[in-house]
Amino acid sequence: MKSPTQPQAIDFDSAKLQRLGFGQIPPLLPRPASLAQLRQRMSQQLQTSLEPQRILGLFFRELQRLVPVDALVYQHAASDLRLEFGQRGHHLVSYSLSHEGQHLGDLVFRRNQRFSDHEQAQLESLLSTLLFPIRNALLYRAATQRALRDPLTGTGNRIAMEQTLQREIDMSRRHRQPLSLLMLDIDHFKSVNDTHGHAAGDHVLREVAASIKQQLRNVDMVFRYGGEEFLILLSNTGRESAALVGERLRYAAQSNDYWAANTRIELTVSLGCSTLLPGESADSLLRRADNALYAAKREGRNRLAMAG
Ligand code: GH3
Ligand code: MG
Ligand code: MG
Repeated sequence: MKSPTQPQAIDFDSAKLQRLGFGQIPPLLPRPASLAQLRQRMSQQLQTSLEPQRILGLFFRELQRLVPVDALVYQHAASDLRLEFGQRGHHLVSYSLSHEGQHLGDLVFRRNQRFSDHEQAQLESLLSTLLFPIRNALLYRAATQRALRDPLTGTGNRIAMEQTLQREIDMSRRHRQPLSLLMLDIDHFKSVNDTHGHAAGDHVLREVAASIKQQLRNVDMVFRYGGEEFLILLSNTGRESAALVGERLRYAAQSNDYWAANTRIELTVSLGCSTLLPGESADSLLRRADNALYAAKREGRNRLAMAG
C-alpha cells in the first residue's frame, strides 16, 4: 500500500471536528466527488477518530461518492476485531492492509455488480487514506486493552470488571434477562506458595485462569478480582444454569494437573454464586457472591454455595 501523501496532525478543536462530522455519522449527501477531492476529504475525516468502528463507518459512507459498494468487512485477527457494514453482494474484491511490514487488517468490498479495473484502482487509491487512521486506532485499542488486563493471567483486571459489571447490569435490566456472578477462590493457596515457592504459585494462578476460560463461551467475562480470586460474569444466565457452570468450574479445577518441578500439586477451588435481584446494585450483587463464597469455605471448601 502507498502512504497518504501528507499525514496531518490530529486537530481536536471541537468546531472543526463538528464540521468534519465527528459524533454521529450522518447519512451521505448524494454528491459525487473526484478521486482527488475524495482522498482529501477522507484523509481529513478519518483522522478525527481512534475507533475502528467509526473510522471504517466513515470510510464506507464516503466511498459511496465514487465507488458504490454494498458491503464492507474488516478483520484484524490479532486485535480480535471483525466489523461489517452494509448488506452482502455476490462480487467481491479483497485487500490486505499493511504498513512497514505491520499487518493492519483485511478488507473485503462486496456488491452485486462486478468491480471494473478502474473502480479497483480507485478503491486502492482511497485505501491509502485508511492506513494511518487504522494503525493509530489499532495501537490505541491495544494500549487500552493492556490497561484493562491482568498481566499475570490475561484475565480482565478490576477496572475492566467494574466497567463490565455495570454494563451487564444495565443490559440485564433493559432486556429483562437474568445475570449471574460467580466468585471463585483457590483453596489453601497460601500453602502452595509456602510449600513450592512463589513462582509455582504464579504458575498455578495462570493455570487456574486458563482452566476457567476453557470452560466458558465468553472469555471476556473472567476477571482477576484479588490475589487468588476470580470473578466470572454470566450474562443471560439464571440461578440454576449458573450453578451448573460453577460446578463445572469446580470440577475442572480439581481434575486439572498442576505441577511444581516434579511434584503434583493438589488443588481445589470454592465458589459463591449470586443472581441479580430486581433493582439490585453492583455492590450488593458482589457482596452476596462474596458471602456465599465465605459460606462455601466454612462448610469445608471444594464446593459451590448459592447466595440466599
Ligand atoms: P482459603 O482456602 O481460605 O482461601 O486459604 P488461602 O490460603 O487460599 O487464602 P489466603 O487469603 O490466606 O491466602 C492467599 C494467598 O495468595 C496469600 C498470598 O500470598 C497469595 N497470593 C496473592 N496474590 C498472589 C500472586 O500474584 N502470586 C502468588 N504466587 N501468590 C499470591
Ligand atoms: Mg484462597
Ligand atoms: Mg482469597
